[in-house]
Amino acid sequence: MARFPELVFSGVQPTGNLHLGNYLGALKRFVEMQATHAALYCVVDLHAITQPHDPAQLRQATREVTMAFIACGLDPAKSILFNQSRVAEHAELAWVFDCVARLGWLNRMTQFKEKAGKDRENASVGLYNYPVLMAADILVYRATHVPVGDDQKQHLELSRDIAQKFNNDFAASIAERGHGDAFFPLPEPLIQGPATRVMSLRDGTKKMSKSDPSEYAHIALTDDADAIVQKVRKAKTDADALPGEIAGLAGRPEADNLVGIFAGLSDETKEQVLARFAGSQFSVFKSALADLLAAKLAPIRGEIIRLRDDPAYIDGVLADGAHKARAIARPNMEAIKDIVGLIR
Ligand code: ATP
Ligand code: MG
Repeated sequence: MARFPELVFSGVQPTGNLHLGNYLGALKRFVEMQATHAALYCVVDLHAITQPHDPAQLRQATREVTMAFIACGLDPAKSILFNQSRVAEHAELAWVFDCVARLGWLNRMTQFKEKAGKDRENASVGLYNYPVLMAADILVYRATHVPVGDDQKQHLELSRDIAQKFNNDFAASIAERGHGDAFFPLPEPLIQGPATRVMSLRDGTKKMSKSDPSEYAHIALTDDADAIVQKVRKAKTDADALPGEIAGLAGRPEADNLVGIFAGLSDETKEQVLARFAGSQFSVFKSALADLLAAKLAPIRGEIIRLRDDPAYIDGVLADGAHKARAIARPNMEAIKDIVGLIR
């Protein structure tokens, strides 16, 4: 297959306050990738309207996610930061991909099943179609690497299937137009580190999510030290002391989760964390974890609060980012139309 220049793309939905899972699974990774790669980081507002929403809150959340991007260390001069709906090519390519993806593929998507719940007949078509738009988000830039949390693995596999099928279905046209043997790269998920799936603090078998109604289930990036201490203290655990080795976390989802969070924050492996806390009671470990969390989140929280006073700056970042993103997306979309046979 043709070689593609390395390009990173990832997105975050403006569906509520960002939490520790978003930070460890996504934003912290975005910042690391920024040092070595050209990257686009997108506030995926078109994904946020797949479920009922309030327009004023959506606008606010779009700005808040942008502030969190910057507060965590993304630099609008290095990476392209923008909101998805500004670049119409995402939605345009999604339609082409709707005609490439198969119903059977989408029927297997577990996120739809979870989010639609019992009343599936009443879910929006957009919620069902979400992974196809996500494939378009990535592939409209022909991005090669996608840092995400573990929950997005299945959607990334679908993106690869769509890219592959498009390359196959239109192989002759792709070659004829001078694009070699493939127009799209098969985007690689980057799901790395000790905290790719941060779980709810109330239930170690449930993903920490923005949409979780329980206050104590998640730690928000804007929680202050008091809130962090409270939430960590109340976090569910079992009665045993911490084990010295990973094997001792088996069947203990809450303990495993807290150790993973610690490791993710301190840039250690879970083994290293356990070596330090082997035999400790949770009271001791939780107190160290709360201190670490408070120390790591304080500068992010401070920066978000500072940026809230400057909405014009945030809007400027988004406008400028959209302009740069469009400059990549537009020629790609034109080439796609030519390949498919759409006169322009
Ligand atoms: P929602 O409940 O609205 O889907 P969310 O918390 O899942 O919100 P998303 O905007 O869907 O957040 O996801 C943004 C990024 O954060 C994705 O890369 C996703 O994989 C990652 N992510 C989300 N939740 C977690 C988690 N609990 N642990 C690790 N990564 C996560
Ligand atoms: Mg999600």
